Amino acid sequence: MSEQQDYDLIIIGAGSGGVRLARMSAAKGARVAVVESRYLGGTCVNVGCVPKKLFVYGSHAGEDIEDAAGYGWSVPGDQVSFDWTRLVANKNAEIERLNGIYGRMLENAGVTVIEGTASLADAHTVVVGDRTFTSKHITVATGSWPVVPDVPGKECVLTSNEMFYLPQLPRQAVVWGGGYIAVEFAGILAGLGVETTLLYRGELFLRGFDDDIREFTAAEMRKKGVDLRFGVNIESIESDNAHYVVNLTDGSHLNTGLVMAATGRRALVDGLGLEELGVQLSASGHVVVDEYFQTAVPSITALGDVIGTPQLTPVALAQGMVLSRRLFGDGGGEMDYSSIPTAVFCQPNIGTVGLTEAEAREAGHKLRIYRSEFKPMKHTLSGRDERALMKLVVDDESDRVLGAHMVGPDAGEITQGIAVAIKAGATKAQFDSTVGIHPTSAEEFVTMRDPVT
Ligand code: NDP
Repeated sequence: MSEQQDYDLIIIGAGSGGVRLARMSAAKGARVAVVESRYLGGTCVNVGCVPKKLFVYGSHAGEDIEDAAGYGWSVPGDQVSFDWTRLVANKNAEIERLNGIYGRMLENAGVTVIEGTASLADAHTVVVGDRTFTSKHITVATGSWPVVPDVPGKECVLTSNEMFYLPQLPRQAVVWGGGYIAVEFAGILAGLGVETTLLYRGELFLRGFDDDIREFTAAEMRKKGVDLRFGVNIESIESDNAHYVVNLTDGSHLNTGLVMAATGRRALVDGLGLEELGVQLSASGHVVVDEYFQTAVPSITALGDVIGTPQLTPVALAQGMVLSRRLFGDGGGEMDYSSIPTAVFCQPNIGTVGLTEAEAREAGHKLRIYRSEFKPMKHTLSGRDERALMKLVVDDESDRVLGAHMVGPDAGEITQGIAVAIKAGATKAQFDSTVGIHPTSAEEFVTMRDPVT
């Protein structure tokens, strides 16, 4: 490793991917520094997965309290109250704790943390304020940032970044978009008693998910009181002292106390000076890399949200490990993007892995589809009108399970295990010969006997 340079590796961005790369590389003896301008742990820890899940728990607790009545508990409605500021404060304390853990993890690994905003002076030089650092390798792991569509009034729109620190809950809210963040936040708000409207420009939200899952989720969210409006977009927003009038493309208007955009995220490359050095950006603004995370400049690599691969923490973590092996290890291993499981923490949750029915048909498979829809056992006594859906997409010829999809309580927890089976190429016969765990919802995945098509 080069002794002429200050470091063997400087990583710009201490998010999931950057921190994993830093720790793995330092463990292999590399001299590593991470530059971070905002917070340790990146989007996931600070304004993403972690606080979102805590908010989902908080939101769902209201239903749990109601459901307890069917199990014999007396929960007088007038004695139930919710304190948003307490939830936010407790969440903030937990995030601070995690920031501290990240700091100590890096320190214990021997990684230098440099606070400040980085730019690249040349292919081996990073500038942070008035300091300059040289390195053999530089990795851009700067992540992504919410995008708000350009409509009149967009300046009064909040994004997930601000929602995590909202001083108080409004009575009504409009959530704009139909992807992961929109459905998760619509669920959080509605569960906390906010009259919530979700606006999506297409015919049905959650584009890219299995169609049955999309329809089923829409029906379940409507039952929980979320006003889902599809085929409509925001034209402009007028604001007057924390009151907003949202003008829609169908000519109608909504009065609301908050507008949140969850309309996608762009790569965060501002001010880095990448293009000046010859690093290419794609039409969507992502850093262009090859399968080894290499940009057009040999010493510069990039990973995570900034390169446009699935914007998921476990993907960035896996990329960090692959890149570390490549830079400082035996070089072996490539990133495998097949059958990446994901969960959407709307209420009820979605869990999904593998091909959707539409994708499998498009790929030319002759299919058997297994589908089970039922009332989760918990709701037999709670009386809640909530149902679950499970679906398997099976290749008729090979019997291989190509996709598993679920809407229902704990869908994310259940899908993680199913993902191992699908990744291993399990057949439907192997699912069938697996003994179920009773009584669970998960056992439906191994007891669906008759195909629906
Ligand atoms: P997504 O890309 O998932 O969804 C963006 C949504 O906004 C889509 O419905 C899109 O519509 C809509 N949209 C985009 N542009 C416009 C526009 N100009 N006007 C109106 N609507 C528009 O992004 P998110 O912001 O929800 O999340 C970003 C990423 O973060 C996700 O893709 C996911 O990878 C990750 N994430 C993962 C989570 C998890 O694992 N549980 C949780 C949260 C985020 P259309 O479909 O028509 O393009």
